[in-house]
Amino acid sequence: MHNGSAGESPACSGCGRPLTPDEIALTRKMVNRGAVRFCCLSCLADHFDVPEETLRQKIREFREMGCTLFAGSSSAREG
Ligand SMILES: [Zn+2]
Repeated sequence: MHNGSAGESPACSGCGRPLTPDEIALTRKMVNRGAVRFCCLSCLADHFDVPEETLRQKIREFREMGCTLFAGSSSAREG
């Protein structure tokens, strides 16, 4: 379904849930930098057989390492 109207936020290729930039970046990190399908944390956790919490931790680690994929957007206000 190409419904290209409201913004281009990809959906999870597993469950169809809207994805956050972090989930997209993490998919790129863990699967393939050139990934064109992305997964939400739940599906990634299921795929890699790890707890979601582990993935959240990884997102933090990557961000702290300064990974460009996780470069916080100017509107990000977490933490
Ligand atoms: Zn999913």
